[in-house]
Amino acid sequence: MEKHYSIALDGPSGSGKSTIAKAVAKELGYTYIDTGAMFRCIGLYCLEHDIPLFDEKKVVEALDHIQVDLLYEQGVQHVLLNGKDVSGLIREEEVGKATSAISGISQVREKLLDLQRGMADRYDVIMDGRDIGTVVLPNADLKIFMTASADVRARRRVEQLKAMGEDPDYMQIKKDLEERDYRDSHREVAPLKQADDAVLLDTSDLTVEEVKDRIISLMEERRN
Ligand code: C5P
Repeated sequence: MEKHYSIALDGPSGSGKSTIAKAVAKELGYTYIDTGAMFRCIGLYCLEHDIPLFDEKKVVEALDHIQVDLLYEQGVQHVLLNGKDVSGLIREEEVGKATSAISGISQVREKLLDLQRGMADRYDVIMDGRDIGTVVLPNADLKIFMTASADVRARRRVEQLKAMGEDPDYMQIKKDLEERDYRDSHREVAPLKQADDAVLLDTSDLTVEEVKDRIISLMEERRN
């Protein structure tokens, strides 16, 4: 099988993963795989179908009715839930919260694992998420664990939501973000955790350009 390169990019919400991953993917000609979007599809389905998020049995039953697909148009990822493009809908705060509630269920994670690994088998990828370096791609060529202070992350999230036409409350956003990180880091299955061989990057005081260049030079070292 042809060798494909992979970069695993993990970190808490708002650490800048997707912005950086897109920039790196563009420069290296890799495919950017946003695994959070896949989990969000399942969260969205549960919200749309009034499935109680903390009723594991009901969520697992719903999985049989959920089909998640990825589609690429001019390098931009679109995520399809049962054939419908939900790339915009899944970004809502409500969906993020619901997703964090169901993402600790092992069957939810298993459902998406093949899709994630299949992409890395076929393409050069930069894949972002919470457990990419630890579980999904343990043999990734480069693993990055990206962090930023809670204040910086909340500020970035507020800006993102404003750009989407929402009117977010900073304190509420920061609280939600901290709760989500706590849940993601303390769940039993595939918690958010830095892989032993991951490079830690704190992006609080770095520009997008600086982080991107750092990752690209790390990747160049690995490829030589
Ligand atoms: O990265 P994003 O904020 O879109 O992820 C939404 C939620 O999906 C996270 O809070 C987390 O609970 C879950 N997630 C996960 N594993 C991943 C990606 C996302 O558990 N690889």
